[in-house]
Amino acid sequence: MRKKLLLIASETEMLAPVLAEVAEATGWRVEHLRDPDSLVERFGGAAPDAILLDLVFTESDGIEILEHLATRGIRAPIVLMGGVSARILETTERLGVTYGLQMAGCLEVPFVERELRSTLGRLWRQREFDDLPAMEPEFLPEPPYDPEAASPIDARELAAAIENDLIVPYYQPQVTLGRSRRWTIDRVEVLARLHHDKLGVIPPMSFVPLAERCGLIGRLTDRLLESTLVQLADWRREGLALSAAVNLSTRMLRDRSLPRRLMGLVAASGTRPDEITFELTETGPYGYQSEVMNVLTRLRLKGFNLAMDDFGTGFSSLVQLHRLPFNELKIDKSFVMRALRNSECRSIISSTIVLAQSIGLEVCAEGVENRETMELLYSLGCTVAQGFYVSPAVMGTEIPAIVEGWYQSTDAGGGVRIATPSW
Ligand code: C2E
Ligand code: CA
Ligand code: CA
Repeated sequence: MRKKLLLIASETEMLAPVLAEVAEATGWRVEHLRDPDSLVERFGGAAPDAILLDLVFTESDGIEILEHLATRGIRAPIVLMGGVSARILETTERLGVTYGLQMAGCLEVPFVERELRSTLGRLWRQREFDDLPAMEPEFLPEPPYDPEAASPIDARELAAAIENDLIVPYYQPQVTLGRSRRWTIDRVEVLARLHHDKLGVIPPMSFVPLAERCGLIGRLTDRLLESTLVQLADWRREGLALSAAVNLSTRMLRDRSLPRRLMGLVAASGTRPDEITFELTETGPYGYQSEVMNVLTRLRLKGFNLAMDDFGTGFSSLVQLHRLPFNELKIDKSFVMRALRNSECRSIISSTIVLAQSIGLEVCAEGVENRETMELLYSLGCTVAQGFYVSPAVMGTEIPAIVEGWYQSTDAGGGVRIATPSW
């Protein structure tokens, strides 16, 4: 019987020899490729009968490799593996299916030998993978604001403002409920403002849609992220450990070079990717589902956090959210701001929290304007909050004083010692 050829693509030193040993013992001929480039170059040689693909490489990631394999028309069944969460493995697998690849399951690492043997057995029989249906691309909805709305400045002025650092990051603190039942300021959301010499401080809704329309949003976001990374390092030097949440326009998700570019900026700064969260609004021109999944999953593979912003205002459901690799959900402020007076809003918040937590998402409530709302959220199980009650968005230099004030305040501060809710 012809020996079938199994390609193992992994740069993890300890992993490949163990996999190879088991595979060879069950009749496979094994070829081990350590870096993605050699994997891509290799397809001139004998076609493999199956591929075991690690998702995490230093220079690349499994999704880029899947794209190459798809471009080459590789038909061999592919098993994904890697020490990443099951959700990331599954999302990547769905993505492979949308590329027309024969995805043949996932192998969690570290693996159990019995599972590896049964996976190899399935790969050997192959026929199981002949008729996998390709996933239909899906469209996601448009943004919540009017993209044609008038802007007080034009595109040329905006481009100049970006290059001259007149787009200034403001930072709004977020608080997380710690073990001691105190709300700790551990993260800031970056909110853009334009410092205009004649018009004063211009809010983002007056220039972000314009930046999206005329292709400047990528550059604007890069500049804000760069300034934020410098600011985080400054705060660290002052003894203030904060992470940051940056808003990404959904339009940027069409750019496949985005994960590498963002990783490049962060890697050079001394901030870890898990200290950065990217917020995406649930509504937006996401384009094809597979394109969105590609970029979002690669951002997660690189270690960034992903938050679904403004949840509840658009069309996406928790079911849809489960298919995307988000790890956090932000309940829109329109529900939070009305929660005390409106029982329907309370029900929406409460059921969102329960469902989100059941699929492993952290929940942040934004638009918390007073202590009563904070206590309500606590009683509903929400552990991350943001809003004017803690602070509005301020310049970076003001943050240390705000943090100090929050902890010193007996009324608010680490303040919110939770009382029994009275509704
Ligand atoms: P968002 O991401 O939902 O940001 C939260 C908005 O709610 C901010 O408005 C913030 O100031 C406001 N907010 C926070 N807490 C409260 C509260 O307790 N009460 C009330 N009434 N409002 C609160 P802002 O800064 O005007 O930003 C508006 C939107 O502009 C953002 O909404 C985001 O979608 C967009 N935006 C801001 N910066 C950027 C950016 O750098 N890139 C992109 N793509 N969009 C951005
Ligand atoms: Ca946001
Ligand atoms: Ca929001």
